[in-house]
Amino acid sequence: MIIVFKPTATVEDKTRVKAQLENRGFQIHASNGVNSSLFGVVGDTSSLDMNLLLVYEGVEKVMRVQEPFKRANRAFHPKDTVVDVCGVPIGGKKIQVIAGPCSVESIEQITEVAEAVKASGASLLRGGAFKPRTSPYSFQGLKELGLDYLKAAREATGLPICTEIMSADKIERFVEDVDLIQVGARNMQNFELLKELGKTNKPILLKRGLAATIEEWIMSAEYIMAGGNENVILCERGIRTFEHYTRNTLDLSAIPAAKKLSHLPVVVDPSHAAGLWWMVEPLAKAAVAVGADGLLIEVHNNPECALCDGAQSLKPQRFDKLMGELKGIAQIVGREL
Ligand code: PEP
Ligand code: MN
Repeated sequence: MIIVFKPTATVEDKTRVKAQLENRGFQIHASNGVNSSLFGVVGDTSSLDMNLLLVYEGVEKVMRVQEPFKRANRAFHPKDTVVDVCGVPIGGKKIQVIAGPCSVESIEQITEVAEAVKASGASLLRGGAFKPRTSPYSFQGLKELGLDYLKAAREATGLPICTEIMSADKIERFVEDVDLIQVGARNMQNFELLKELGKTNKPILLKRGLAATIEEWIMSAEYIMAGGNENVILCERGIRTFEHYTRNTLDLSAIPAAKKLSHLPVVVDPSHAAGLWWMVEPLAKAAVAVGADGLLIEVHNNPECALCDGAQSLKPQRFDKLMGELKGIAQIVGREL
């Protein structure tokens, strides 16, 4: 961290800052220029509040040299992390596809979709049981019954299951029954939930918040990892911008950025990014081209009648065609699918 002093800062101003930081165990390297002077703060500054330093008389600005996250930081862990989800490695050479409906609607629906996506090469089944809907009058999910149906679909197909958790009081049930626990965009900064998930050793799919910066997203991963759970997979699902043509704007640049900053695997969800089924195919291809380690794609056997997100869901035949086309793109970028 670097502290820049105002040209008017007095020796006393600097001594006060120096004493405070040395008290907290940091070393100070001072550098005095003609018009202003700097302090280089040496030590683990991740717990240091930059804004608090601005309160000191004489301080002009404070800059971080290192990111505020440690466990998720590639600088301290140069090799890619591979998260094992019941034998499915996420983050390795093979691009893994998580597919299924937005919501679990019936045992027939989830089993039929599970069988279809498995036949097309998906390696995990998704399906929401607890749904974070904008309106309290919209379908809220089958809840515990939805988890039972997901388990039945897993038994029928052998596909590990991924579903969203919305509150910490359900963790015990999720740890017991779910293979990959999804933290949705709306809960990305539910820090109490993240801390509780950090105490488990379950793989967590952490979606990027609707208006979260890349750093905030990785800081949320850091929350889970700080508790001891290093099995975190990041998921870019589009961010809110001024553009309303699409549901969100897929931030393709976030994929190479997150992979540069962090060693964690990055999965892309083109379905929630676009909100339009016909855009899922080109965005999924683009995601693979820019280095995604996996995809999360909504597939429904009858999207016209879906209880949630039908407009962005692919029919099984289109999903099958897309999986074939993605293989070629994966090969070009040195991956497998
Ligand atoms: C979902 O995956 O169904 C979902 C609600 O996603 P997000 O949190 O990205 O909106
Ligand atoms: Mn959805």
